[in-house]
Amino acid sequence: MVFENTQKQLEKAKKHVELVQETEETLKYPTEAFTFSIPVRMDDGSLKVFEGHRVRYNDARGPTKGGIRYHPGVNLDEVKALAFWMSIKCAVINIPYGGGKGGITVDPHKLSKAELEKLSRGWMRKAYRIVGPDRDIPAPDVYTNGQIMAWMMDEYSIIKGEYSPGVITGKPLSLGGSLGRSYATALGGYYCVKEAVKKMEVGKTVVVQGFGNAGSHMARLLSEDGFKVIAVSDSKGGALLEEGFDYDKLMEVKTKERRVDSYPGCKKISNEEILELECDILVLAALENVVTEKNAGNIKGKMIVELANGPVNPEADDILHKNSKFLIPDILANSGGVCVSYFEWVQNKQGYYWKEDEVNAKLLEKMVKEFNATFDIHKEKSIDMRTAAYVLALGRIDEATKDKAIY
Ligand code: GLU
Repeated sequence: MVFENTQKQLEKAKKHVELVQETEETLKYPTEAFTFSIPVRMDDGSLKVFEGHRVRYNDARGPTKGGIRYHPGVNLDEVKALAFWMSIKCAVINIPYGGGKGGITVDPHKLSKAELEKLSRGWMRKAYRIVGPDRDIPAPDVYTNGQIMAWMMDEYSIIKGEYSPGVITGKPLSLGGSLGRSYATALGGYYCVKEAVKKMEVGKTVVVQGFGNAGSHMARLLSEDGFKVIAVSDSKGGALLEEGFDYDKLMEVKTKERRVDSYPGCKKISNEEILELECDILVLAALENVVTEKNAGNIKGKMIVELANGPVNPEADDILHKNSKFLIPDILANSGGVCVSYFEWVQNKQGYYWKEDEVNAKLLEKMVKEFNATFDIHKEKSIDMRTAAYVLALGRIDEATKDKAIY
């Protein structure tokens, strides 16, 4: 169960930071967890009911914030874990939000566009009671995108009777989206890598596990910067090419064939093998719990970048740390996404929109500052980067909890 992982990470970090009892107690439970059914009239005329969730975890620092995931594996335990991580993540990157998450248990690839729209509007027709521009602000996550955000924002605006772009982020530009949001998760991770290589010797070969939004943009950014992407994977399998992939060609193959291992001349490898390849930087950009105590000892990448949420479990963390791997944890490495979501929300509130390089410059400033704050704690206290990021975040959550002290 992945929620258990969050509590193990928290326990580990608590040894290095002093928290008031109120913070410790509230971080054990979500403030609200809502599970509901979404009836959808399918194209064949039948009615199908899907299960939806929205969890608001900790709201000490502001409205809760976090994406909505569409995946067959979605369940309340996972959504709770992801909402917990969002609470920590927003505090690491120091934006005025708590953490939330939502999801639907569904394989969206099996739905027609009309069914997907009904499902997405149906989610909002239930979740509008818990979300809101100053209460809880969703965004995209695994297998959701700008189109889905647009439908949901529209549905919320219809229910409320007023145009409400600030209720959700990751929207298309035409509906109040922000320039730079679509690739922000990867750009934030890339900025972390750039800071990290100033501090240590790391070579240029890269493996990217997971070729969705975050993973594909990361492969692009690193390739453009002279790194060599030698392996990539998606849910259908992995592809290895020692001389390095040509990014544009790879994207073309992925778009056309819907799988990366159709790349001409590559060696097909399994989703397990890709993790254990010899490389300098291993980017984990798929789902949680892919590196566990079973394979952590075989990981050869020197630097590990968690663009996904929760890809390394607590037992694997200890093994990687012992093996001197430098891991940039999810709550820092992928925080660029929610950071630019915050910028989008600010722009929605002002009704005034920024240029792309302004957005990216603001993101860079945030990432550099919080990467270094985390790195300093990691060095000072001789703890791994994840625990250091927790220490940073927990201090901030604790301060807000103390200042409110309403209990
Ligand atoms: N789903 C993304 C994450 O896990 C983005 C959340 C957001 O932008 O609110 O961080």
